[in-house]
Amino acid sequence: MSEERLGPVTVEQMEAGRDRRKVARRRMLADYDMPVVCLTLVSPGPVKWWSWTDRVFAVAQAELRKTFGDRGWMVRDWDEKRPATGPEAQISVNASPWEIKRVLLKIEDTHPLGRLWDMDVITTDGTVLDRAKIGIRPRRCLVCTKDADTCTRTDAHPDDELLKSVDRILARAEATTGALR
Ligand SMILES: [Zn+2]
Repeated sequence: MSEERLGPVTVEQMEAGRDRRKVARRRMLADYDMPVVCLTLVSPGPVKWWSWTDRVFAVAQAELRKTFGDRGWMVRDWDEKRPATGPEAQISVNASPWEIKRVLLKIEDTHPLGRLWDMDVITTDGTVLDRAKIGIRPRRCLVCTKDADTCTRTDAHPDDELLKSVDRILARAEATTGALR
């Protein structure tokens, strides 16, 4: 792994990454006219490549492949990238966006590593389906009992505290299911 990939990234790089994903997604929507799943990792702080990053992302992708396969949802495109801002995948899936979202929410909320996955669903008109839109409570903060967006917006917790929570999730996943092996 290169130094560049391991080093901290700036807010501008994160924003540029989001913009780049949006452009790629628009092309995917235009090409296939199917909902797009956007997978990224929950990775607090400016460093986006840790020793666990590859494995946690690989398990997430495997989970998605299995989920789509089990349901017979055809995948038209699977665009995986590994920039300095962390691994990401955008996947064109032939199924109802609401049905995809419902299934992915369940994975985020129940898989031992699910709290470290962001599995967004984008409809064919480019709308990101979020929890609020379907009346589901927002994700809880990694550290406290408030919702995650509030704590992120107010910078409520230092990075090292957030990363300690990530370590706890990894340790628990390892201990209970061996999900990282
Ligand atoms: Zn909090």
